[in-house]
Order: sequence, then C-alpha cells, then structure tokens
Amino acid sequence: MIDLRSDTVTKPTSAMREAMFQAEVGDDVFGDDPTVARLEELAAGMLGKEAGMFVPSGTQSNLCALLTHCGRGDEYIVGQTAHTYLFEGGGAAVFGGIQPQPMEQEADGTLLLEKAAELVKPDDYHYARTRLLCLENTTWGKVLPAAYLDQVGSFAESNALSLHLDGARIFNAAVASGECVSKLADPFDSVSVCLSKGLGAPVGSVLVASKAFVKEAKHWRKMSGGGMRQSGILAAAGIDALKNHVTRLADDHENARRLAEGLAEISGVHVDPVQTNMVFYQTTHGDPAVVAEQLRAVGVLIGGYMGGKVRLVTHLGVTAGDIEKVLRVFRSVFD
Ligand SMILES: *Cc1c(COP(=O)(O)O)cnc(C)c1O
Repeated sequence: MIDLRSDTVTKPTSAMREAMFQAEVGDDVFGDDPTVARLEELAAGMLGKEAGMFVPSGTQSNLCALLTHCGRGDEYIVGQTAHTYLFEGGGAAVFGGIQPQPMEQEADGTLLLEKAAELVKPDDYHYARTRLLCLENTTWGKVLPAAYLDQVGSFAESNALSLHLDGARIFNAAVASGECVSKLADPFDSVSVCLSKGLGAPVGSVLVASKAFVKEAKHWRKMSGGGMRQSGILAAAGIDALKNHVTRLADDHENARRLAEGLAEISGVHVDPVQTNMVFYQTTHGDPAVVAEQLRAVGVLIGGYMGGKVRLVTHLGVTAGDIEKVLRVFRSVFD
C-alpha cells in the first residue's frame, strides 16, 4: 500500500528503532530520564528557546500551552480551520474555561492582523479577557510568509497579547522557505512541534518556551495525564528524527510537487499550489468516497475529504517511484 492519508502513518526506521533500543532511561516524572532531557534540550536549542517539554501528542502540547497562557475566562484568537480550534475537541474550553475567538484565515494561511485587532476585547467586565494569538505553521501545507512573521511580534506587543505557534510542521516550513527554524519560532513565546508527523517518530511532540513557562506547563502536563516514566525510549526516536529527518523533508516537498504537477495534467482535476508536503485537489470526477475505494483496491490509500477538497500527504514512507505509480493509478481511475 502507498499511504497518502497523512504524514502520521510513517513507521520508525531501523536506525530509529535501534536508538530506541539503546536509550538510557529513568523515571521522567522524577526528572530522571537523561534521554528525555537530551531531547528537550535539543529541541529547545534548535528552536532558539530556553527549555522544552516532551509530551505524547501535539494536542496535549497545544493544550498545555493554552492552559499556561490563559486562565478561566480568558480567550485566544485563532484561525477558523486551525488545529487548536477545529481538531482538538474543544480542549481549551473544556479543561481550561478558555474561550476561543476564531476568525477566517486569508488564502495564504495568515490571520489578518487588522481584523485580529478588532477582535481584541476592551478592558470591560462584559468581555472575556483576550490574552493570546495562536498561529499555525505550516497551516494546511502553507508556509506563513516571512514578512508576516516580522509583524506579529509588534502586533502582539501593542495589543498586550502572548503568542503561541502550533508548529506541528514548523520544520517543513523551515525547509520549504530556506529559513532557519529558530527564526520562524522567534516571535513566539511558545512553540509546539510534532515529532510524529513528517519527522517520522512513532510518538511525541515537544513544547518549547522560556524556563518559567515550561515549569508551569509541566504542571498542566502532569494534571492532564501526560507525565511519563521511562519515556526516554520514545524520546530517543525524537532525537533520531531531529538529527536525521529534517533535511530530507525536502524530498517529501519535491514528491508532493511532482504529484501535484501530474494530477493537474488530468482533465477535470483542479490542484492547489503546493508549498510543502500536502496536495489538495478538487475534481468533477465522481464521488470522493468511491474514488478512494477504487484507489484502495489498487494499492493507494488517500485521506478524507476536507473543506471540499481531497488531501494527499507525502512523507518518508513514500518514494519518487511511488509517486509515479500513484499518478498512473489516478489516470486510470479518472479516465
Ligand atoms: C497533528 C497536528 C497536531 C496535533 O498532533 P497530535 O499528535 O495528532 O495530537 C496539532 N496541530 C497540527 C497543525 C497538526 O497537524
């Protein structure tokens, strides 16, 4: 099977499994796991922050960040289709009494700052207290423009907001734009990074921020059930991913570009411009669920239908040769 449903379907490489096997471990709830400590330090260093916190999932990482930034009755401004608003079960509201203030994203994935400014509530007891602006990079495969990132810091400062980045795929953004990842992280007080997406680790995310922020976030991690014991076994996979799987993201981007190019040649298929490892297309050819079934029967798995489009994701389990096969299969199904 060639699996294009998500970059979360990657399996640990043998080198990664070997690193996991060899990992030196301890009880991380006691602060005793040297491998977790190494991963947290490595991630924080790469992203230019003081400290890191290893968590089982990106959802928990974002949740701990939101709970650290905001209290009960506070609100955060967030994109209407951002993961932290749309795909995390309303966790910030459920666990933190934090109200989301969603807003439409622009076509490039940014939140227009002039519009965001209008959503910052006045200091008046009728309103929730607006505390935080939450962005996502990449967002639906798009890289936030550098010029935009230059503006968000001063915007946050002038509106007395904190800044959180859901950087689940920030390394894709860095590789695609040629920017240093720490530069992309720089404007933000906290950044969450997924190790289990294109970087290919089986489990885990790291939340990076200041030492004081991470200390507080660890309180929320424990409370939400994310304190783990000999988690160095998992952290070792994360270290291997950060050391060996960042620059190769360029291959995934190239494969996605080639896939998009090939699909666009099929009549009746409209493909969005590709920036990283995600291809979105719309088509007049048949019911997407039926197409997905036809593709599955010949060895290609594709994901669900999102916002009227089909999403295809490349990752380290998909080769350039696989892409050519996928294109042959698409041509035969659509013709
Ligand atoms: C996958 C993802 C997350 C959450 O990660 P999980 O580990 O699946 O909980 C957060 N934000 C974005 C943008 C993601 O793609």
